[in-house]
Amino acid sequence: MNIHEYQAKGLLREFGVPVPDGYPVLKAEDAEAAARQLRGPVWVVKSQIHAGGRGKGSFKEAEAGEKGGVRLAKSVDEATAFVRQMLGHTLVTVQTGPAGKQVNRLYIEDGSAIDREFYLSMLVDRETSRIAFVVSTEGGMNIEDVAHDTPEKIKTFSIDPATGIMPLHGRTVAEALGLSGDLAKQTEALVTKLYAAFTAKDMAMLEINPLITTKDGRLRCLDAKISFDDNALYRHPELFNLRDETEEDAKEIEASKYDLAYIALDGTIGCMVNGAGLAMATLDIIQLYGESPANFLDVGGGATEEKVTAAFKIITADPKVKGILVNIFGGIMKCDVIARGVIAAVKAVGLQVPLVVRLEGTNVEEGKEIIRSSGLNVIPADDLDDAAQKIVAAVRKG
Ligand code: GDP
Ligand code: MN
Repeated sequence: MNIHEYQAKGLLREFGVPVPDGYPVLKAEDAEAAARQLRGPVWVVKSQIHAGGRGKGSFKEAEAGEKGGVRLAKSVDEATAFVRQMLGHTLVTVQTGPAGKQVNRLYIEDGSAIDREFYLSMLVDRETSRIAFVVSTEGGMNIEDVAHDTPEKIKTFSIDPATGIMPLHGRTVAEALGLSGDLAKQTEALVTKLYAAFTAKDMAMLEINPLITTKDGRLRCLDAKISFDDNALYRHPELFNLRDETEEDAKEIEASKYDLAYIALDGTIGCMVNGAGLAMATLDIIQLYGESPANFLDVGGGATEEKVTAAFKIITADPKVKGILVNIFGGIMKCDVIARGVIAAVKAVGLQVPLVVRLEGTNVEEGKEIIRSSGLNVIPADDLDDAAQKIVAAVRKG
């Protein structure tokens, strides 16, 4: 789960991490009051979307103005005007894709006098099974570009979970950033607090870009991006209300209600499969025959008829889907249950596109009979290869 910058900063603030003061604004009429609570003389008005590159982004609508998604204002009036311009408009950045994202929330922040900009991130490194720090003197830039052009400017190290964070780690970061004296001390304190926040909240990723020093010698997090480990979210009910469903794929939200593992993809063939391995193989074989899957969907081992029906509805509601492939290997999951689920779903939502069903395993004959006798226009298939070829051919025929 991802959250907005202002929420990430609020959370980091609770851990004593230095972030600028600021107030989120969801309605234009609240902008002036929010700006008045800050001292100035500079206000930063920041679009809140789940994507980076906002500063260099641009709006689709002319009335949103020429400037990017992060704007510096010199007065309360100007800050208020920026909110009115950006709110409700579509911001396109390198991370949003060409469709962009609608800005429904803004963040008005106390402007900082930047001296230097750095990069700092933390993530769970799968290779070492540890939490790793990634730091660079090249702040405010796309870290992938830095890694490509000047990899020597990136310093990475990981934390041994047995010892946890130690003063040495903070000193390593300060040295990598070329900070000494009081700023090095601030860096050590920051690193300790970030690690505490990261582990306490089961984060998967935390990125501060840029981390800055101000002209009056203070270290501050100017941007913050946090992703939480979804598998640990149940331990943090306090994080649930930070979720912004408007930033997520509606189909994925619906799927999560039924505990279905669903990921939307770009292709045309909707897939309903049981087991992650079989689902991956199904996506591969569709590609092999020259078409692309519209989704990954694992209905799981013990799916009920209700769950299968829900899965089928999610697939058919996707306008990109030009054909559906149901590929089930019945082990714990019985083929007749799947068959009944498919029939119930087809009866409920109708079938506008070709449907290929491949069933194998427990109660397979019963399952096939249910489909045959339903009178629905379902194309039966014998094995995975046969099924993939049949759905690709059916989709191409239109
Ligand atoms: P991003 O473009 O989505 O990564 O958004 P950021 O929060 O990183 O802001 C983009 C850029 O705006 C930063 O890299 C800074 O250069 C600039 N910026 C943000 N806040 C301030 C501020 O308080 N003062 C100044 N002078 N520049 C800022
Ligand atoms: Mn940034």
